[in-house]
Amino acid sequence: MKIHAQRGTKDILPDEAFLFQYVDDVFKETCHAFGFQEIRVPTFEATELFARGVGDASDIVSKEMYTFEDRGGRSITLRPEGTAGVVRAFIEHGMTSLPLPVKLFYNLNCFRYESVQKGRYREFWQLGCETFGPESPEADAEMILLLDRFFQTLGLKEVALEINNIGCPVCRPQYLAALKDYFAPHLSDMCGDCHERFERNVLRIIDCKVDACQTVVKDSPLQEAYLCADCKEHKATLEHRLDSLGVKYRVNGRIVRGLDYYTRTVFEFISEHVGTQGTICGGGRYDGLVETLGGPAVPGVGFAMGIERLLMELKATNTPLPTPSKRDLYILCFPDTRDAAATLVYALRSEGVGADFDIMDRSFRAQMKYAGKGDYLALIVLGEDEVKSGMAKLKWLDSGDEIESSLSADLLATHFYSKEA
Ligand code: ATP
Ligand code: MG
Repeated sequence: MKIHAQRGTKDILPDEAFLFQYVDDVFKETCHAFGFQEIRVPTFEATELFARGVGDASDIVSKEMYTFEDRGGRSITLRPEGTAGVVRAFIEHGMTSLPLPVKLFYNLNCFRYESVQKGRYREFWQLGCETFGPESPEADAEMILLLDRFFQTLGLKEVALEINNIGCPVCRPQYLAALKDYFAPHLSDMCGDCHERFERNVLRIIDCKVDACQTVVKDSPLQEAYLCADCKEHKATLEHRLDSLGVKYRVNGRIVRGLDYYTRTVFEFISEHVGTQGTICGGGRYDGLVETLGGPAVPGVGFAMGIERLLMELKATNTPLPTPSKRDLYILCFPDTRDAAATLVYALRSEGVGADFDIMDRSFRAQMKYAGKGDYLALIVLGEDEVKSGMAKLKWLDSGDEIESSLSADLLATHFYSKEA
């Protein structure tokens, strides 16, 4: 019986892995320019971390988690997102007493039991950043500017930024009360999940993807009218910074984000090309999260971006992407020169040249065929004459150009690179 990859998971084959690596590299460089340092956290955590951190009422916790009991009887969950684990690590390692802000980035796989569609998988990859410490909207702006720079570097032009302010513990209760008043008479038209959201976290209703619910949601009251003075100022300062640095955005009063921990600023980068799964990146401020997870009161702000959706966007918009380069050099040999070929190949590899030789016990002709198909830039034929004279031809497959060179690895490497540079 054949065993297949599990539904919602996929193999990332070399050409696609190359693109993942490209995006990862650009992200890493952008994070570096903005002073973020990498953190890596475990793939699984105590279930409690996500229940408390992401929120019991969120779709993620209530419907999408991969939770199981391990052999020691603990309840374990495969991370559905990165923030909760990063916050746990931040607290656990006493990073709260480091000079603030602490600015971290990550690149990790996430697991959610979702109904699988285009842009929606059960295992997917996220790039993200978290800043701990600043209460100031300058930190929110910095997140958005980092993303703006990242998209620009990738050459992505058509992602739109939407921002909102969903209030704080001072002003949100009044807003939630207004939402309840508004939704109560419409509940009979709404989905079962929304009935539950109405009881547990009415804000989540705004994020419901069911059409009937969205019909009701579109006329619901907006947070804006209920913001306290501090939240209003936070919002205005963020918008000022984005304006002053020329970042385009749209205020969308109906972004609430799928996670329970957000306060004040929330934002999304959306695209029209990723199907109904239009959100490429979402983020916001989570001033209460560190405390909720047992740390001191340290504010935070962050975002997470789906790599698969980002790649879909890059392809759908025909944004130029790098292509994997050919392999460097193939050494053809005969049974008598196999030892010499092995020595040369390993020496070339130490010089940083990608060198290969036959490891399939093939005839010279078959090696020749493989070298042509195997996408090598250049080859060397190592026969008895070459081994005796210590000289061989380095030949480029595309142009047919040749250089006669002594068989020392560093000289060959120099010739190879002078041509390839
Ligand atoms: P959605 O509303 O599409 O379900 P979300 O609000 O659940 O998204 P977040 O939890 O904010 O998404 O995750 C951040 C990003 O991770 C998303 O914007 C998206 O790019 C990506 N993402 C989320 N869930 C998936 C998934 N199941 N498959 C692929 N990418 C995903
Ligand atoms: Mg979701």
